Amino acid sequence: MVAVITGAGKGIGRAIALRLAKDGYKIAVCYNNSGAAAEKTAADIIAAGGTARAFRLDVTDSVNVNFVIADIENAFGEIAVLVNNAGIAEQSLFTDITDEMWHKMIDTNLGGAFYCARAVLPFMIHRKMGKIINIASIWGETGGSCEVHYSAAKAGIIGMTKALAKEVGPSGITVNCVSPGVILTDMTSHFDEDTMNTLKDETPLGRIGTPEDVAGAVAFLVSADADFITGQDIAVNGGMNI
Ligand code: NAP
Repeated sequence: MVAVITGAGKGIGRAIALRLAKDGYKIAVCYNNSGAAAEKTAADIIAAGGTARAFRLDVTDSVNVNFVIADIENAFGEIAVLVNNAGIAEQSLFTDITDEMWHKMIDTNLGGAFYCARAVLPFMIHRKMGKIINIASIWGETGGSCEVHYSAAKAGIIGMTKALAKEVGPSGITVNCVSPGVILTDMTSHFDEDTMNTLKDETPLGRIGTPEDVAGAVAFLVSADADFITGQDIAVNGGMNI
């Protein structure tokens, strides 16, 4: 069974790839710019006894998405799981967000999840099985100041998850999302020490999250234990903002 993970060269995507490989999935390690990192993720999985291959997949390019997903299905194996993890973040005053910034944010985070889900679903519907996990964000749930475009894209992912779950449930497919709080990756590595300490203080569990914390929730949602769970948003945030 193949799990396709977008943005799996680094950060949360890499942790999900390693975890699902440990749980027995063949991993399609998808990347856009981080080719060397994706090859390393695949090599690490293979070194640990698993099966993986790196695929270049730009989630903003629907033609590329359709082509690569068909290639994975036909040449690597039947796709059982899609994890829409690829995303970008950016901080900006709302009035400073340009048309270009807005479209790039929505196209990457929300459009990317749409293109990838649309590409895998015909295969999943044909088999009447499959699990789609979308990585949203705490800011999609609560709204983040100076991240309105990011928050809107992630809120869109939560809405898409709920609606799509209803539409494809009769075909035996589950669709859920995971909304991380503050997780230490390249996306948050530019925060200074004071900001990190403030974020830690605002988190009831008293620490910043790890990519493995998110991977654990994804592993549960794709496991048989979650077969009757769909349309849900699982928060992995240490109790922040609840
Ligand atoms: P990251 O280390 O910056 O990773 C982002 C990933 O997205 C990279 O692997 C990147 O791939 C991929 N990506 C970006 N644009 C892409 C495109 N056009 N096509 C394909 N892949 C693309 O950040 P991260 O923290 O692991 O983020 C993973 C997900 O978690 C994102 O959706 C993010 O919004 C979400 N999240 C993160 C946090 C946090 O605190 N870190 C909190 C809430 C939600 P390449 O490097 O190969 O281009």
